[in-house]
Amino acid sequence: MAKIILNRENLFHNLNLISKQAKGIEKVAIVLKDNAYGHGLLEIAKLASEYGIKKAVVRTHEEALKINNFFEDVLILADVENSTYSHTFHIAVNSLEQIKKLPINTKVHLKIDSGMHRNGINKKQLKEAIIGICEQNLKFTGLFTHYRCADELSTDFYWQRSNFEQIKQEVKSTCEKLSIPTPKFHSANSSALFRVKDFDEDFARVGIATYGYLETDTIFNNPKLKPVMSFWAQKISTREIKKGQRIGYGGSYFAKKDMTVSTYDVGYGDGFLRLNEKHKYITPKGYKILGRVSMDNLSINSQDEEVCIFDDVRQLAKIHDTITYEIITTLNPNIKKEII
Ligand SMILES: *Cc1c(COP(=O)(O)O)cnc(C)c1O
Repeated sequence: MAKIILNRENLFHNLNLISKQAKGIEKVAIVLKDNAYGHGLLEIAKLASEYGIKKAVVRTHEEALKINNFFEDVLILADVENSTYSHTFHIAVNSLEQIKKLPINTKVHLKIDSGMHRNGINKKQLKEAIIGICEQNLKFTGLFTHYRCADELSTDFYWQRSNFEQIKQEVKSTCEKLSIPTPKFHSANSSALFRVKDFDEDFARVGIATYGYLETDTIFNNPKLKPVMSFWAQKISTREIKKGQRIGYGGSYFAKKDMTVSTYDVGYGDGFLRLNEKHKYITPKGYKILGRVSMDNLSINSQDEEVCIFDDVRQLAKIHDTITYEIITTLNPNIKKEII
């Protein structure tokens, strides 16, 4: 059976670099949304908690419930249920309307739109939102924003950061006036965390760097992260291919000489994106994927019982003209995980 191997040593190596940059393990909130970027929600939650991480970020309430026992605080980014939540959960609030729907005592992190214009309330709604939170008897535990350009070489990042600095000051003074505690402030994702020299917020929300990648422009002297995941396929059968025969759909691979070829149990049904005539790929051991990738199969010039399909997805991201995030997040959650 195809499987994903998770390398604990590499994960801990990345978490070392991340906690150092964040100035403390308690300042790291590990982002576990979307099945921990394809790595397995429970597997990564367990390992992160073993490492000592106390905060996690997920997308849904359902994900939060699965990992509740491993963390002290879980931020839920996109919940729409408005149910009663565990005391460890914090709900991201994206609009004034959402505040009115939340049950009493819910812990909320107010999301501010500081320039990305995707989610969050705008600066002008700030006071109304904080007053709304108080009137609704919610707990104002966090204020956060998200950068649109943390990974690109542009001044946008600094512009947005200074917008957020202003907003923080406003929130501090509003909270003082209302005699409520100041919430935790956070804005950095992986690339923003590694872009600043003196990280000074309450915590960073770190996703992709945990898993060993960073899409940040290489000009930024990126840390030496190590990919956590490798993906392995198992052999189904082996056959002799004669010179002149073709392999797979469309017969797109043409054998120029006699060769031994095996079929392996991985395909685009597993979330391993389809390779075809335009997208050639060579495995870490130097084997070629021959012809098109089918839904559940692919052909390789190897007889090994198991073949490592990838242990670093940067090459695949390039081939598919996308980012590492998409290659790993797309993997089918049902693929068996093994921790080494
Ligand atoms: C996904 C996400 C993150 C993590 O981003 P990375 O680039 O993977 O570190 C942080 N904050 C929010 C709001 C997100 O949606």
